[in-house]
Amino acid sequence: MDSPMFDVVIAGCGPTGAMLAAELRLHDVRVLVLEREIEPASFVRIVGLHIRSLELMAMRGLLERLLPHGRQRPAGGFFAAIAHPPPEGLDSAHAYLLGMQHSVLVRLLSERAIEVGAEVRRGSAVVGLEQDSEGVTVDLSDGERVRASFLVGCDGGRSTVRKLLGVGFPGEPARTETLMGEMEVGAPPEEIAAKMAEVGRSTKQFWLKPLGEGIHQVVVPAAGVSEDREEPPTLGDFQQQLRAFAGTDFGVHSPRWMSRFGDATRLAETYRVGRVLLAGDAAHIHPPTGGQGLNLGIQDAFNLGWKLAAQVRGWAPGALLDTYEAERRPVAEDVLDNTRAQMELQSSEPGPQAVRRLLTELMGFNDVNRHLIGKITAIDIRYDFGEGPDLLGRRLPDVDVGGGRLYDLLHGGRGLLLDRTGHLVVGGWSDRVDYLGDRTVGLEAPCILLRPDGHVAWVGDGQQDLDQHLARWFGLSPGD
Ligand SMILES: Cc1cc2nc3c(=O)[nH]c(=O)nc-3n(C[C@H](O)[C@H](O)[C@H](O)COP(=O)(O)OP(=O)(O)OC[C@H]3O[C@@H](n4cnc5c(N)ncnc54)[C@H](O)[C@@H]3O)c2cc1C
Repeated sequence: MDSPMFDVVIAGCGPTGAMLAAELRLHDVRVLVLEREIEPASFVRIVGLHIRSLELMAMRGLLERLLPHGRQRPAGGFFAAIAHPPPEGLDSAHAYLLGMQHSVLVRLLSERAIEVGAEVRRGSAVVGLEQDSEGVTVDLSDGERVRASFLVGCDGGRSTVRKLLGVGFPGEPARTETLMGEMEVGAPPEEIAAKMAEVGRSTKQFWLKPLGEGIHQVVVPAAGVSEDREEPPTLGDFQQQLRAFAGTDFGVHSPRWMSRFGDATRLAETYRVGRVLLAGDAAHIHPPTGGQGLNLGIQDAFNLGWKLAAQVRGWAPGALLDTYEAERRPVAEDVLDNTRAQMELQSSEPGPQAVRRLLTELMGFNDVNRHLIGKITAIDIRYDFGEGPDLLGRRLPDVDVGGGRLYDLLHGGRGLLLDRTGHLVVGGWSDRVDYLGDRTVGLEAPCILLRPDGHVAWVGDGQQDLDQHLARWFGLSPGD
């Protein structure tokens, strides 16, 4: 069969794959997204977008589109589900959590990817790959082969791409499993509320939440770790576990959907083998506590998109693509570690419960609360760009600039020079870096160079120094 040529093939149209496709399209990269499932998943799992992901959506003009589909909740109380109001000092215009259905978020992100020109092919799985110095040949489940300059595995925790590459996924296997499903419930609301309060005191992974029309989301610890994670639990498994924990099965019946998830924690040995990269759950998995996995994947995509586009367009400086793993791997390591800690704090054993009480006390100190919520919401990430002021490598909040908002200037996914001196220029880089000269910008630095992902690449006021940093991040200017 023919081998149509793309710049980038993405395996998987979950949140990570869809976000990456849209980012690549901002730079006119020819993208094919392959998604194994014919229909998007229909389950009503609610996920939360944390502050940094909301900021990224605002940077691409997508937030307005998401807001009507979600519910805003306070940004506090996420670390190990320790109930605490949000800390003071969350320096963001989007300091809340946006809860929304996973399937709706994936639909909106896929629609955006298609709208900006990505081709999304459903019912088509990646089953094989072969790479050489020129590109990657990808085998599809229907027997077709496609050719691309790069392949990115955004195909989830059981990633076929990762396995085909032979990349190890070391870490800890699941020790516990939780059943999760949607079903009708016979018991009256008062009985459910009373049992939830009673059982919830010692077991955190237990709830029955009304979803409307008599359907409840039911979550209860499983009896053990299943041999075959692909095999869904049965209604009998739910009834047995509800009785074991609450003394009643609440008359659950007519399930719509049933699933299980574990607390396995794993990190891919590498994020890149030649022309094939990994992002999202394909690169890292951890328990859902704190609600960080999807956020981490979206942020991987945001970090990778412009770098891979630069590589495809031919202006990427030598090591730019490798900075993806160098920057994102430590972030994933930190998330894996904080979820390990959160899982311990949710154990019903007396030791961890005592530590939980102590930490609950400590969170009364605003700095402690702020530090932990900063981790969960990813607003304190500082990439290592070498020696420099504290701002270097950090995000900039959505400050007022030139009579508008900073993030509105980042919709195109280009770099941006914020010049308070009015005497610097982006010169030959103007095809990939925008310029705003504004003496009134409320920043504590004379000039700032922002990467397309909103991280500070340079702080200073000298043209020569700026040119060196433009070349470091945006390659040689076309005139050179
Ligand atoms: C109960 C629960 C609650 C959660 N809550 C939150 C939360 O509140 N906040 C949060 O940030 N995270 C949460 N998560 C984690 C989050 O769901 C995942 O981290 C996120 O979905 C990962 O996105 P992804 O795109 O990387 O992978 P996935 O969502 O797994 O998407 C991968 C896609 O690839 C497709 N695919 C697989 N194999 C192939 C193949 N060979 N070829 C082509 N396509 C393929 C799949 O069909 C799928 O569509 C939760 C997880 C669970 C289990």
